[in-house]
Amino acid sequence: MYAFKTDGFEHKLAATQVLLRDADARYSPLAQASSLGAEDMVITHLLASLQLDASIFVLDTGMLHRPTLDLIGRAEAHYGRIFEVYRPDPQAASDFVAEHGDDAMRRSVDLRKACCGLRKVEPLARALAGKNGWLTGLRREQSGSRAAVPDVEMQHVVVGKVLIARAKVNPLADWTWGEVWHFIALEGIPYNPLHDAFFPSIGCAPCTRAITPGEDFRAGRWWWESENAKECGLHVSAHTSQAPTSAIIP
Ligand code: SF4
Repeated sequence: MYAFKTDGFEHKLAATQVLLRDADARYSPLAQASSLGAEDMVITHLLASLQLDASIFVLDTGMLHRPTLDLIGRAEAHYGRIFEVYRPDPQAASDFVAEHGDDAMRRSVDLRKACCGLRKVEPLARALAGKNGWLTGLRREQSGSRAAVPDVEMQHVVVGKVLIARAKVNPLADWTWGEVWHFIALEGIPYNPLHDAFFPSIGCAPCTRAITPGEDFRAGRWWWESENAKECGLHVSAHTSQAPTSAIIP
């Protein structure tokens, strides 16, 4: 339904494969943060086909749709790889619900960000501990706030009392939605069936809805909020710098 092969797609694919090989060698240990969305399934497929060592992890927020959770097992069977699953601290999650209720995310941006903080951002920090780089499925086409996503950026984060640099690699930054689906169809890549029900961007069940034709790509995420509030904190960094692919972590 979405697939569209562009002129020069093979060239773009080859460049992505070079970038992934380079990142795997340069930023090891490298991990893929998979949301199990279409872009991330393409990256998992490329890691498997290129036989790269990068690990793969999923943040199970406790709020994901059943088809999203089912895709973990399907993908593990398809690729013969284990997806590491990180979950929120159960006490913190239950305390938050007890204090603010099940619908806290609908009542204010601050409460929504607090929920994302404990269900996504804190588990992400655990997943990235000890990693020199991570892979994401961010694409420039996805939204205005992602229009300048670089192929590689260096993030500077404080771990304990030490400032470390970590590479964030976005191998599909210049891919279009049509190219993502062209490749999925071409290679028979397993994907989340919610995409067939007009969910282009899939997150937690309470915060994701289907879109209608003509709506923005991310219109189905946190649709009750203003456009510029719509990030969950996973892709917001205190200090990042765009890096050439030759950058090396000290
Ligand atoms: S997307 Fe919604 S349910 Fe998921 S962590 Fe954020 S606020 Fe909570």
